[in-house]
Amino acid sequence: MQPESLCLHAGYEPANGAPRVVPIVQSTTYRYDSAEEIAKLFDLKSNGFFYSRIGNPTVDAVEQKIAALEGGIGALCTSSGQAAVLLSVLNIARSGDHILSASSIYGGTFNLFGHTLKRFGIETTFVDQNAPQAELEAAIRPNTKLVYGETLANPALSVLDIESFASLAHSRNLPLLVDNTFATPILCRPLEHGADIVIHSSTKYLDGHAIQLGGIIVDGGKFNWRNGNFHEFTTPDQSYHGLIYADAFGPSAYIVKARVQLMRDLGCCQSAQGAFYTNLGLETLPLRMARHSANALQAAQWLQKHKKIQSVTYPGLADDKSASLAKKYLPKGSSGVISFTLKGGREKGMRFLNSLRLISLEVHVADIRTSALHPASSTHRQLNDAQLAECGIDPGLIRISVGIENWEDIRADLEQALEKI
Ligand SMILES: *Cc1c(COP(=O)(O)O)cnc(C)c1O
Repeated sequence: MQPESLCLHAGYEPANGAPRVVPIVQSTTYRYDSAEEIAKLFDLKSNGFFYSRIGNPTVDAVEQKIAALEGGIGALCTSSGQAAVLLSVLNIARSGDHILSASSIYGGTFNLFGHTLKRFGIETTFVDQNAPQAELEAAIRPNTKLVYGETLANPALSVLDIESFASLAHSRNLPLLVDNTFATPILCRPLEHGADIVIHSSTKYLDGHAIQLGGIIVDGGKFNWRNGNFHEFTTPDQSYHGLIYADAFGPSAYIVKARVQLMRDLGCCQSAQGAFYTNLGLETLPLRMARHSANALQAAQWLQKHKKIQSVTYPGLADDKSASLAKKYLPKGSSGVISFTLKGGREKGMRFLNSLRLISLEVHVADIRTSALHPASSTHRQLNDAQLAECGIDPGLIRISVGIENWEDIRADLEQALEKI
């Protein structure tokens, strides 16, 4: 099936007389006929639900749907995107290990890698993803366990050269993990370009309606965990009587381990109700991504011509720094987020935001409703102008997450707000 059909049909096939729509299985637990059957489940010798922290039928339907959309062999839903990023990394790296990450990544991931994981003994080197190959190679150490980046970085909006990052990682027997939140599998499928693991904050476009937090990890199933570098997969897990994941589960070792070991112990699971909402969003994802992308391109092109605008960043613009990578990796559209710089700095930025009527002020992106944020007066307000410049943020920078309203209404609101500054 094509993505449009997968969004509606993958993950749940109703039996004769069963509910047409994936049901919310609001049960923490499951009944079995014999103690032997339950013992087999705990020994991972048979498949089945036994406790909703580890697996739940509603959550399972969403996992199968997103795995199908990304072209992976399995997936694991989490309570948030942050939890997905955390588990995706802890499943591979432990104290004493090292991560190589692109520096253009989500602020939450940057803090997790740069500060919190450091306290766990995992060190991260951040690199400019467009640095020369030799510089990137030099950043890989003997204890490096993975390479990490974002398809379309939040908030920098730079496009990752996934194929070149995959060959960098694979040349050193390392997996490439890609956060595909902003692109979604409708605009880009990183596994097809050589990524090994894909991560999402489903809170963003997969949900789309700004109603449900969630995350997901998708396993491509192709990475060889037995290349000598990954003891997590080739040495016995004492918590399962000495089970060796790579031996017991072959190509699905990564995603099985994330579930039965890390989700069991860390507990950051998605709920049945949450998965139901995410599924509702997924059903219309292809329609929404096309509209978000079309509206964002129109907004970017219109703003670029406005005399009060200094610059616009959107990978879909022909003269954008990521234009050629966007052409390759995002041929169907560059998603809904744009950023632009107003002439006149911090104060003008705040006045512009206060003048908006239709467009709402939100600390969120990927909402079906257009929203705007001024980093200098919100997410980055502790920084002075010099510190902002160090982060590559102009005091007049505005980020807009373009929704699916009629473009003429979005344009009218931008126009009247720009008239007031
Ligand atoms: C929002 C976001 C996250 C974190 O997801 P939450 O669901 O907010 O925890 C991770 N990566 C990217 C790219 C994001 O935009």
